Amino acid sequence: MAPPLRSARPLQLTLALLKPDAVAHPLVLEAVHQTILSNRFLIVRAKELRCGRDESRRFYREHAGRFFYQRLVEFMASGPMWAYILAHENAVSLWRSLMGPTKVFRARNSVPDSIRGAYGLTDTRNTTHGSDSPASASREIAFFFPEFSEQRWYEQEEPRLRGGRVFYSAEERVHRPCIPAGAELT
Ligand code: ADP
Ligand code: MG
Repeated sequence: MAPPLRSARPLQLTLALLKPDAVAHPLVLEAVHQTILSNRFLIVRAKELRCGRDESRRFYREHAGRFFYQRLVEFMASGPMWAYILAHENAVSLWRSLMGPTKVFRARNSVPDSIRGAYGLTDTRNTTHGSDSPASASREIAFFFPEFSEQRWYEQEEPRLRGGRVFYSAEERVHRPCIPAGAELT
C-alpha cells in the first residue's frame, strides 16, 4: 500500500461519489476505491447511501432545465452509491483529473486510464462525481454529511492526519488519526 501522505500544507477536502453504475459492479467499486488509496488520498469519511429523486434534483439543481437533467436524476436515484470525503493537498483538482472528462466517449479517447475512461458506461452513467471547486466541496460535503463539521475536522483531525500519524481501517474503509499513546488516560 502507498505510504501515508505527509503534507506541509493544509489538507484540502473534496466530495467524491461513486455513482450507481460503479456500485452495481463490485469489481469497479473496488478498483475505484483502490485508485483513491493508491493516489494517497486520506479517506476522511465514507458511507453507502441511497439518494431519492428529490435529493438528486437538489444536488444537481445547477443543471435543472438541461436536456439530460431528468435522466441524470433518475439515474442517481436508481441504486446505492458510496459518498466519500477525501483529503489531499490538492484534493479537488487531483480527484477531478483522476476521474477524467465528463463525457465517457471523450474520456475513453483522450484519457483511457482515467476512471471514466476505464469504467464509464455512458455520458450519464459516468461512474463518479467530484466537486468542481473548494466552495462546491464544502457545500456538497454538508449535503451528504450533515453531521460532519469541517471546522472541527480542521481543528481536531487535520493536524494529525497531515503529519502522517494515520492508520487505514479496511473494515470501515476510512483513515483515522492515531491516538497518541496514553491520550485516552488524560
Ligand atoms: P461533472 O460530473 O464532470 O462535473 P457536469 O457537472 O457538467 O459534469 O454534469 C453532471 C453530471 O451530469 C455528469 O457527471 C453526468 O452524469 C451528467 N451529464 C453531463 N453532461 C451530460 C450529457 N451531455 N449527457 C448526459 N449526461 C450528462
Ligand atoms: Mg459538475
